[in-house]
Amino acid sequence: MSNILNHINKILIPLGCFGCNTPLGKGERLICTVCRNQLPLTEYNFTDENPIDRIFYGRIDIKKANSFLFYTQNGIVKNIIHHLKYKNQAQLGTFFGLWYAPLIKERLEIDIVVPVPLHKRKLRKRGYNQVSLFAQELANHFKAEFNENILLKTANTKTLTKKNRFSRWKANQELYQLIEKKYIENKTILLVDDVITTGATIEACATALKKAKGVVIYVVTIAVVP
Ligand SMILES: [Zn+2]
Repeated sequence: MSNILNHINKILIPLGCFGCNTPLGKGERLICTVCRNQLPLTEYNFTDENPIDRIFYGRIDIKKANSFLFYTQNGIVKNIIHHLKYKNQAQLGTFFGLWYAPLIKERLEIDIVVPVPLHKRKLRKRGYNQVSLFAQELANHFKAEFNENILLKTANTKTLTKKNRFSRWKANQELYQLIEKKYIENKTILLVDDVITTGATIEACATALKKAKGVVIYVVTIAVVP
């Protein structure tokens, strides 16, 4: 019965904007016009050094890093990403990808686009990887292969918090396993994630990818914590 009521509610109540929750107007989809105009684009390019590049200096060799948006503790981007991750709105990944890809002016020679993987238990629970559709749009843009099977997340991250700093770092480095070592040798890879904060996830994934020789890594995330 409650399922039926939910279903009826979905039809009767106009859908809210995923950024600000106000009802969407005619012709508006997913995100209202006001939020679209207020999206905090980083406007970073792939030529000049930016603060995301600097996250990785002295840690791991990343050819170039970039993010589409700024992520703040309150605001549109946080709300949209919350829906993308926890509210079954995978389509928002496509929305971000279709917006961001045409803004990339440089012609990067990317061979393979790799989204940061979820642990298989989390993937089963969520039903989708929130990064995949965004990454897929970037693969289309660069005419690159999209491949979700190159990295495997070997453990759930939660258990890490109990350990001390070094063993946490060590365990974090081993969270991702490279599956297709031979296959990615001498390839240029675009590694994609949702939000970049400390860079630990990207560092761990890039460390795994670098186990294949001659790999060049670019990084793109939907958002960056400024
Ligand atoms: Zn809005």
